[in-house]
Amino acid sequence: MGSWDELCILCGVAPAGGPIRMITDSDVDQETKNILQDIRDGGLLPHLQDSEIELLIHQCMASTGVLPQDFLAKPSWIPEGMSEPSRKCIAIGHFDSFGEPRIEGTKAPTGKDVEVHNVLYGCSGSFNAVEDEEGTVVDRHLVCSISFENNPNFFLCQHCFHYLEAWLPMFGVMPSHARPSPSDGQLLPFAGELYEIVNSRGQRRHYPSGLLPGIEYDGIEASLLQWQRHFIQCRKGVKYLAQAIEERKQDQDLVAALLRDCRGWMFTDPAIWPKPYAIDSNLTPTFTREFASTSPTPPSKIETLPNELLPPILRDLPLRSLLALSATCRSLRTLITEPSFLDIILRDSISHGELHWILPVASAQSDMAAAYEAVRLWLPEHGRPPPLDADECPSEDADVDNRTEIVVPPVMPLILSPEFPRLAFVRACWESDSMMSRKRLWKQVEQFGFLWKDYRSHGWKVDRFIPTVAEK
Ligand SMILES: [Zn+2]
Repeated sequence: MGSWDELCILCGVAPAGGPIRMITDSDVDQETKNILQDIRDGGLLPHLQDSEIELLIHQCMASTGVLPQDFLAKPSWIPEGMSEPSRKCIAIGHFDSFGEPRIEGTKAPTGKDVEVHNVLYGCSGSFNAVEDEEGTVVDRHLVCSISFENNPNFFLCQHCFHYLEAWLPMFGVMPSHARPSPSDGQLLPFAGELYEIVNSRGQRRHYPSGLLPGIEYDGIEASLLQWQRHFIQCRKGVKYLAQAIEERKQDQDLVAALLRDCRGWMFTDPAIWPKPYAIDSNLTPTFTREFASTSPTPPSKIETLPNELLPPILRDLPLRSLLALSATCRSLRTLITEPSFLDIILRDSISHGELHWILPVASAQSDMAAAYEAVRLWLPEHGRPPPLDADECPSEDADVDNRTEIVVPPVMPLILSPEFPRLAFVRACWESDSMMSRKRLWKQVEQFGFLWKDYRSHGWKVDRFIPTVAEK
């Protein structure tokens, strides 16, 4: 079938970067009917005729350029950072001199001595170039495709690999508790455990996507139809499109709304931290004590505890639950939405709780400098640290790539500093496609954490391994 896409086992995005078309032209009529039906089923836009809505939807989809002209070019309606082409990936496995998997019949080597390569130019589940530690790229073909029979080798996006390694301890998977290799008792490296987890499940990876059974991918896999080329397969509901039509938005605004319903953010680079808008007091809502001052009810017991004691008690509550709790009574609402208390909760969540994903990961090349440059701008000018300018580069001749060698000051102290507007920053993260993509990866890592703990407790579900690595 020529070429095709296979998907990253963590995020479900193809190495090509994700869709660059909304819909194929032959599907426009049917999808227009589907969207209209969803609008009617939801009781939305009751004041508009079917024909009016159909016309708007049809025009919206047609304006995205459904005709297959120049079909590899990324159109302007796709925001920066979304569906960026040619993601860097990591290939994991055992490869022979031709780059094919080293397997004996149906048996593969164990995770001991597994190879880990930075790879580029992925197509059809395989890669055509390897980048060494110095950043030199050499031609080398490495086969990770699920279509190669019994292939135990696989790939992840480079950032997914680093996030997985960095975040797993947050879900109780500590490196020091790694599984010993049966051949010599040595603890398996992170990649070796991942390789064994992927290959020792009851079911092999899905064909043809390459995704892992037992992991929920949020429906992103529906976008794979030989290639991962169209957003429309990921559409979930019509909330944003219907709202845009209601507000009489047109053209690009309608396309942006449809793209949001198609959850285009899942395909966005997860390392673009939000920069502050013009300093706007609307971004930092102030919660007043009006409820407390007018409330006739006596303070609850929880309210009488010092603020410093409450975060540890409430730490395990998801923020959403915490806010739901705040709706249960006036005294709790006053307490939880009081800015200084909410700020303690946010600090706690970011440093070691469920918002930890907001911080950059040191091993992910794209993270540190990008996070620093964005986060520093949120601090007031008088206390703002300097940008990563030429003074910090190793030499005046340093090119862009050398920036990755700059020692970037840690970002967490900036975010946790007293002057940092955490509430506004977290709100901006929630409005950012990139940060929502990042938050989704955190949930993906949590799912891998469950597999990891099961593997460490119970070992291989199915033994598909030979005990020692085959001779090279
Ligand atoms: Zn990925």
